[in-house]
Amino acid sequence: MSDSSDSLFERALQLMPGGVNSPVRAFRSVGGTPFFTRSARGATLETVDGRTLIDFVCTWGPAIHGHNHPEIRDAIAAALDRGTSFGTPNPLEVDMAERIVRMVPSVEKVRMCNSGTEATMTAVRLARGFTRRDKIIKFAGCYHGHVDSLLIKAGSGALTMGNPDSAGIPDSFARETIVLPFNDADVIDQAFAEHSDSIAGVILEPYPANVGLILPEPGFLQHLRDVCTRHGSVLIFDEVMTGFRVAAGGVQEVEGITPDLTTLGKIIGGGLPVGALGGRANIMDQLAPIGPVYQAGTLSGNPLAMAAGIAALDLLDAEPPYARLDILGGRIQSTITEAARSKGLPLQVPQVGSMFALFFSASPVRDYDDATGSTTEHFKAVFQTCLENGVYLPPSPFETCFISTAHEGEAIDRACEVISNAIRGI
Ligand SMILES: *Cc1c(COP(=O)(O)O)cnc(C)c1O
Repeated sequence: MSDSSDSLFERALQLMPGGVNSPVRAFRSVGGTPFFTRSARGATLETVDGRTLIDFVCTWGPAIHGHNHPEIRDAIAAALDRGTSFGTPNPLEVDMAERIVRMVPSVEKVRMCNSGTEATMTAVRLARGFTRRDKIIKFAGCYHGHVDSLLIKAGSGALTMGNPDSAGIPDSFARETIVLPFNDADVIDQAFAEHSDSIAGVILEPYPANVGLILPEPGFLQHLRDVCTRHGSVLIFDEVMTGFRVAAGGVQEVEGITPDLTTLGKIIGGGLPVGALGGRANIMDQLAPIGPVYQAGTLSGNPLAMAAGIAALDLLDAEPPYARLDILGGRIQSTITEAARSKGLPLQVPQVGSMFALFFSASPVRDYDDATGSTTEHFKAVFQTCLENGVYLPPSPFETCFISTAHEGEAIDRACEVISNAIRGI
């Protein structure tokens, strides 16, 4: 008999801070203790306790094809046969770069790394090196990984711990970061008026998806593009979450906006640890070894990770799933909105394609203050009831739910029923 989730978690608590390697996994914002997963396939997780759960976390975004997709697994197995890491250039890096450059509209050159955090950290350094300026504008509620200068009002895990800013970040670093509310063009203009010749770049999740899900108001992204162009600042779209998720070319393709730099991760790793930074060639060429901005990685472009990512992107290319996924997302959205309405509960369900979130709030959520002003108690109740009934939602009211192609059919039918019942049971 293998260990239960409870006994594994007890052991983990002795050995690891909070028992986990990434904070939100600890279930602290929904209560209870986490389950441990033994295996995953398609739309479901199999826990060590023998339960099967329909999974709307999808490993926090990467699993757009569902878990353990046979073509991705086969690609990893084939790469494994040739060795796990070479420390020299390998052909798969070139194949990967060709795909990213072809699929993501603004990307002319690309640098692979090992996580989204590495990608955004490098993007900020590159923007500073390119412009020879120091200040970065970010938006409250946008999460860009655990980069020192970006962990300020960062949403996601930090937010659900009731601690929007991390300890351990010197004030002198934080002073170089200007935090503004999302969806407010006037404050952008004010910030540029005040600091115009010192703003290296503006970084944002073009669809903020780490504070629940927030969508940009018409014209907001174009305004950022125009202001950055006018002031010679670098516009950075952090598409670690949205890249290949809302369209092959990410939000920039959907909205028709061309950022200077783009960060990627999650889906491009096919479930292995990968990040990437891409953009305009004249900016990217500031990176070492040809430019003065240093960046490196022992395992960057790792052949197993490239093989997994290439297989994931080729599946998207062969049969773009975006229209199908949007139908599934729309069904969940309308079903649970109706459940809340019939119960007289205020609920907003922002949804775009395969992403959706639940905000128990009477009015639409357009920024961080709206999101944090929503009622989190109802979400906790819905989360727990769903989990008891075999549906795993993200264990925090400030995360986005993800749908994969493997959810089509039975999983989505069952989830609509379980989530609606949970809402009606509040
Ligand atoms: C997940 C995420 C990151 C961080 O990526 P990691 O691989 O977890 O370091 C950065 N930006 C966005 C928008 C993300 O969703």
